[in-house]
Amino acid sequence: TIGQLALDSHGNLSGSCTTSGAAYKLHGRVGDSPIIGAGLFVDNEVGAACATGLGEAVVRVAGSSMVVEQMRNGKSPMEACKIVVERIVKKHKDLTNVQVGFLALNHKGEYGAYSVYPGFNYAICEADQANRMEDAKSKM
Ligand code: ASP
Repeated sequence: TIGQLALDSHGNLSGSCTTSGAAYKLHGRVGDSPIIGAGLFVDNEVGAACATGLGEAVVRVAGSSMVVEQMRNGKSPMEACKIVVERIVKKHKDLTNVQVGFLALNHKGEYGAYSVYPGFNYAICEADQANRMEDAKSKM
């Protein structure tokens, strides 16, 4: 999944995501990306979040909307992503192939990411700074 979250100079948040879906997926499978609240969620008063990885695991916890709810309750973007990743980890006895990453941005412009396994990188683009890549913290 490619997810994008943005905050403009007026304080408005937006988000989008696109995916080719899971490899070797069954015909007709619907992943998390086209389901608002799972692969993507934006609440202009709070923040925005998007997900990548095993869509079935993201859908089961309404992942991106849960990340936004955690931020609504005062968590930082990274803490919010971590809480929902931990919820996913708890629901799986076997974490083989269960890679999920969340990226979050709040209305103040703070951002963070967290994934089950290492290897989730994201790009930051700020109006007055050079673009850069960062690595999400991870559970494993
Ligand atoms: N989240 C997508 C899906 O499960 C896969 C991806 O990360 O692109 O459909």
